[in-house]
Amino acid sequence: MSVLAKRVLVLNRSYLPVHITSTRRALSLLYQDMAHAVDDQYRTFDFATWSTQAVSVDDESVGLVDRMIRVPRVVLLLRYDRIPKRSVRFTRFNIYARDRHRCQYCGCRLLRSELNLDHVVPRSRGGASTWDNVVCSCRRCNRIKGGRTPEEAGMHLRRRPFRPKWSPFLVDEVGRKRYKEWLPYLGAVDGTWRNLEETERSAG
Ligand SMILES: [Zn+2]
Repeated sequence: MSVLAKRVLVLNRSYLPVHITSTRRALSLLYQDMAHAVDDQYRTFDFATWSTQAVSVDDESVGLVDRMIRVPRVVLLLRYDRIPKRSVRFTRFNIYARDRHRCQYCGCRLLRSELNLDHVVPRSRGGASTWDNVVCSCRRCNRIKGGRTPEEAGMHLRRRPFRPKWSPFLVDEVGRKRYKEWLPYLGAVDGTWRNLEETERSAG
């Protein structure tokens, strides 16, 4: 993999991880002074100071016109927090991701193409299209439930739907392969991950 394609963790101004980006994009943010690089001592650097940091043999680096620049593993956004707001947009795919592609009634795991969205309180009864009233469901459960509430249909939600605090995709993106420089910032993401797993387990 090219160094420019390697992954960089993006933090918002509160040092919360919000995104994974490429080295190419991270350097561009740094160069435009939209982000600072963060080193493993939690020090932050603008482009000018970062580009004068010595590059050791263990560091990955990219060549500029007249010197080598170290590849940052973590960058801190300076001016805006748009990314986290955008990342929890209420969309079909974000709901699928939040529910981990599982029908919230029978628990079966399906491909996106086989999933439906279900309004827990049906729209015909005034149920809203919101994070806490829409879940992922299979077509079969959707058909059985029809225009009824889960209670009326004798069906049980495996988990109470909620507005995700983190982009469900961030949990997936961070994945297993992570740089040691990321670890101090990932507690909250891993917490979300653990919560998801526990909720799934306790829902049986
Ligand atoms: Zn189902």
